[in-house]
Amino acid sequence: MKISKRMSLIKPSVTLAITAKAKALKASGIDVIGFGAGEPDFDTPDIIKKAAIDAIDKGYTKYTAVGGINELKDAVIRKLKRDQGLDYKRDNILVSCGAKHSLYNLTQALFEEGDEVIIPAPYWVSYPEQISITGATPVILNTRESQGFKVHISALENTITDKTRGIILNSPSNPTGAAYTKGELQKIADLIKGKDITVISDDIYEKIVYDGFEFSSIAGLGKEIKKKTVIVNGVSKAYSMTGWRIGYIAGPKRLIKECSMLQSQSTSNPTSIAQYAAVKALNCPDEVIFKMVREFDKRRKYIVQALSFIDGVSCNMPAGAFYVFPDVSNHFGKNYNGKSIGGSVDMANYLLNDCNVAVVPGAAFGADNNIRLSYATSMENIKTGIERIKDGISRLKT
Ligand SMILES: *Cc1c(COP(=O)(O)O)cnc(C)c1O
Repeated sequence: MKISKRMSLIKPSVTLAITAKAKALKASGIDVIGFGAGEPDFDTPDIIKKAAIDAIDKGYTKYTAVGGINELKDAVIRKLKRDQGLDYKRDNILVSCGAKHSLYNLTQALFEEGDEVIIPAPYWVSYPEQISITGATPVILNTRESQGFKVHISALENTITDKTRGIILNSPSNPTGAAYTKGELQKIADLIKGKDITVISDDIYEKIVYDGFEFSSIAGLGKEIKKKTVIVNGVSKAYSMTGWRIGYIAGPKRLIKECSMLQSQSTSNPTSIAQYAAVKALNCPDEVIFKMVREFDKRRKYIVQALSFIDGVSCNMPAGAFYVFPDVSNHFGKNYNGKSIGGSVDMANYLLNDCNVAVVPGAAFGADNNIRLSYATSMENIKTGIERIKDGISRLKT
């Protein structure tokens, strides 16, 4: 059997791979503490589950319109108005099978061979892969821990060429938790003014922010930038609904039409039942989310402090999402059992196999000095896990 060349353009998701490996170890009876999770550890709120059960009882179990039911599009429109003051109509919205699917449709509709798409690093694992499979070139723009893992405007300016067709912004960020202020976004908006560059604004962690951080989406910074921006969002992270697979985009009508066409020939509508649940979620008072965020916040403060007590490890305080992204590179070049730790993948393997702690190597996010720990796990797990990391690192030999 011949496999298409296209498949050689992408690689599997490392985050899912490490989660699978940790699960396998757990299944074999080993007590592994998992910091790999890319999803909240809370249950989906009961009122949302109930909406799905009602939908089944009412017989809403058939195909819906390809781009989502009107009730859901309207709930998205109200949400964007309420939270960002943005005006969209139904033909500016497309609901898909998770934000990852939204991004896939988008990248397919927007980019092709010869195009360059700027991705600030550390980045979410799927961005470069989704760009690559379109034939376009992902252009990685590195950011620094000392600059809060945010793009420096002059570095961005130097990265833009006449081939640049897109830039992906993810604030708050997976994996760093960095979040852009309105002022920082304004600078980016000003820079791309008059250029044929589409901004993909992945706002999936918008609701998970701390210390009173005020989330802004770049689309809200004026008419011109709104026309160039596609907002990507969904219910997975804010409402602990990763398994339901509902994401959406809001953007220019012409682009939405193309993405809908692609969706009509691939997945058709997202699950009808999940769409009704998502309507309920988006109409929920934010208190449903805040309960979860307050819990994340306690863990965030604890984990950053606990990491600061580990020799040679530095860690920024994340402004949002539920990850920390410590730099562990001071320990590269050290040894255990005659093996040397050359980078983040070796470090993650050491921590998993010798310390029973699952973390994700930063290399997966384009930042080999770091590892990603998700604090979407219990405080008890966090305490035990960090102790194990501390102990493991202290046992490394120079
Ligand atoms: C989780 C995640 C998504 C995708 O979420 P879906 O479950 O597909 O809606 C998109 N972007 C980032 C940065 C994420 O962490």
